[in-house]
Order: sequence, then structure tokens, then C-alpha cells
Amino acid sequence: MRLHWRDLGSPRADRTHGKPVELSGFAFTPLAARTADHFLLMAEPGCCQGCVPANPLAVVEVFADQPIKLGAGELRLTGTWRLSSDPDGWRYQLRGAEVKCGLSRRALMAASPLFCLPVVPAMAQADGTAVDLHSHARNLIQMAYGRGSFAAVAEPMRQGGVSAICLAVVADSPIIKTMDGRLRPGRDPRPGELYDYTQRSFQQLHALAGTQQMPILRTAAELNAARASRPSLIVSSEGGDFLEGKIERLDEAYQRWGLRHLQLTHYRPNELGDIQTEPSVHGGLTQFGVEVVRRCNQLGIVVDVAHGTYELVKKAASVTTKPLVLSHTSLTDRPAAWTRRILPDHARAIAATGGVIGIWPVLGYFPNVVAYADGFARMVDVVGINHVGLGTDLLGLPGGSTLVNYNDLPQLAAALRSKFSPEETAKLLGGNYRRVFQASLGG
Ligand SMILES: [Zn+2]
Ligand SMILES: [Zn+2]
Repeated sequence: MRLHWRDLGSPRADRTHGKPVELSGFAFTPLAARTADHFLLMAEPGCCQGCVPANPLAVVEVFADQPIKLGAGELRLTGTWRLSSDPDGWRYQLRGAEVKCGLSRRALMAASPLFCLPVVPAMAQADGTAVDLHSHARNLIQMAYGRGSFAAVAEPMRQGGVSAICLAVVADSPIIKTMDGRLRPGRDPRPGELYDYTQRSFQQLHALAGTQQMPILRTAAELNAARASRPSLIVSSEGGDFLEGKIERLDEAYQRWGLRHLQLTHYRPNELGDIQTEPSVHGGLTQFGVEVVRRCNQLGIVVDVAHGTYELVKKAASVTTKPLVLSHTSLTDRPAAWTRRILPDHARAIAATGGVIGIWPVLGYFPNVVAYADGFARMVDVVGINHVGLGTDLLGLPGGSTLVNYNDLPQLAAALRSKFSPEETAKLLGGNYRRVFQASLGG
């Protein structure tokens, strides 16, 4: 397939993830080089060394197995198109790049990783009621403030039959670094820093909702009425770090930003409790964490314990009067060090509150949608059909996602339909979260 620069940022470029493409552009290397196996490709020749466009939609990161002769003119390259989820990297990559020299379309087709799933319209999507428990909607993480434009959200949701997404700001983002092969807090936040940052993020989320003409859902009736023909969002925060120990800020976020889904912790052991990817410092949920869970129950905010330790989950389950959500994870019986996956007992503790566990499409665990559907089935085996949901984390996944964008959802629905009835598939893809949302918000 031939890609054009105008395709970048569009569903066409996103759907092409993993496929062979052809793209022409101008090479850029930080130091003048005649050949390189790693460089940037740009739509237009750079005017000087060092002037890389700031717009991530105008740059493709190129990786070649053999050094490529750069020369002065336009390069016509073939390779495998990839969407990158590296928060510090460029959005698009061309892997295994080669200079195009008479490669036939037939040869390209033969090299394409054809994935044969019957493309059947899935019952669960026919009424467009799917709900994503955790999403960054391909925005908010990679986007620097005031730079570039929002990626399309509403259109892929319409195409994939997704009615609503829990769109999460990332409360501890300014201090999180990749260290020791995982995401970790790089330093302590300054007083007010994460509050200020999260206020700006909520503002940006509302701007995205406006740009994409997506209603912000504030009541259970609104979620129950939501359909993919008019995609909506639920304001969420990944981490209660912005509270900085002040409970009144929860009321403020509820009122001012329409916060309806709060994940207590993220990649920093915070004022609310412990996380799976760092040593325990609180022994689970803190007293402030208990206070936050109770206030969420009173206000009508869904409590999400993703990233929290099993100890945190047990304590939250004992305190909450509403179902808990664990929005993005998957089941394991042999946990690796610092894993974000959970053991069967951890899953059962969520189900016992009447809650729901979102299955997380980490490419390393689920190399294709059939394997991803198996991940749903394994969790259903442990907790039952009423306690499993969809938690995509689009696009916050370092290392890639099985589900590249929402318009791929019918493929997942088809894979689920080979294991579950239409009614069961509808529960997994949205019905279970609607039930929890209703229970948490009342009405
Ligand atoms: Zn997460
Ligand atoms: Zn996330």
C-alpha cells in the first residue's frame, strides 16, 4: 500500500499498522551522514541541520536492516508501518526499510502478514454499545501542550461500534521515567505540580471533547443512552495524585471537570496507596485512600484499582459500598517481577464487589485478536461472564497494542463471538461496565 503524508494522523494510517507500505520523503539525521540505518523521514527537505518539524504527523522514524544511502533527493522507501507508543518517540515508524527498486505489488502482498479472520458484523456492535474502561484515545500522553493537533477519536469509535470511552488524564505523568526496563517515578513531585498539571490535562481533555464533538457523560442514564453513532466520553484520571492528600479536590474535579471515574494509583506510590510496580510503602490502601473511596461512593465516581497492589484491592473492596473496577490488566498464574497482570484471587476480589476487570491488549501477551479474545475467556473462567470488560489503554501502551484503534473492534467482537453468545459478547464489550457505572452513580 502506498501511504501519503496527508494520511498521517488519519484512520487510514492507523489501520495500516503492521502492514507493508511505500512512502516517499526526505531523510534527516542529526549529524550529516551519507548512509544510515536509523533516521527520520520528513515530508519536505529540512532547511538546515537540526530543524526537525515539531509536528509528529510530519515525521516518520525509519529503521533499516542494512544502511540506506541518503543522498540529497527524495527517497522512496518500503517497509513495515508501525504506530509507536513510546511517549518520547515519534508516532509513526517504518521498520525493515529498504529503498524501493521495482518491487512488485504482488511481492508486497506475498510479504504482508495476512491475518484471516472472518469479517462478520458482530451482534455486539450492531447496536453500537461498546464501552472502553480505560483509554487515552491516542492523545494526551504523547501530545505536548500547544503542539500538533488531536488525533481522530470519534470517527474510529463510530466505525468500530464504540459508544463511550473512559478517557484518562495521567496525573503523575511529569515525574514518570523509563528506568530498569519499566515505568517508574523519577523524582518526587514539587508541591502543587501534579495538581497544576492535571488541571491543564482536564482542560485539554475538554478541548478534545469539543474538537471531536463528543458529549461528556455525567449520569448513568446518559451512558445507557450512548450509542456509537454519537461517541461520548467519561472523564477519568489515571492516578489520584492531583489530590495531593486534599479530599476537597475530589469534589472540585467532580464539579468542575465532570470526573466520573478515578483510578486511585498509577506509576507512583502516592498518597492513596501502593502500586504493583514498586515496593510496598503503605501496606496497601492508606487512610486517605479509604477516605477517597468513600467520597467517590458518595459523589458517584467509579473507583478503579488498576495498578494497585492486591493488598490495596482487598482493603478497597472491604471499604467500598459500590462495585470496583480494575480497568486494564490480564490474568496470570505465574507473575513476573513487577507485573501489572493479576492472579486469580486478585480478580475474584474485584468480582466479589460486583465489579468488572478490563482486559488489556498488550501486544507482548496477545499477539493478535484471537489471543486477545482468549484473554477475555481465561478471565471469564475465573470470575464469570458478568465481571469482564474491555480496557484498551489506547494509546498508552509501551511496546504496542493488539488493538491498534477502535475501528479494529469488530475483529475482536468476531473473535469473542466464536467463544461467547451475542448476549455474553455484549456484556464483555460494554454491558458489564454500564451496570457498574449505574451502580456507582445511581439514578
Ligand atoms: Zn495504566
Ligand atoms: Zn493508561
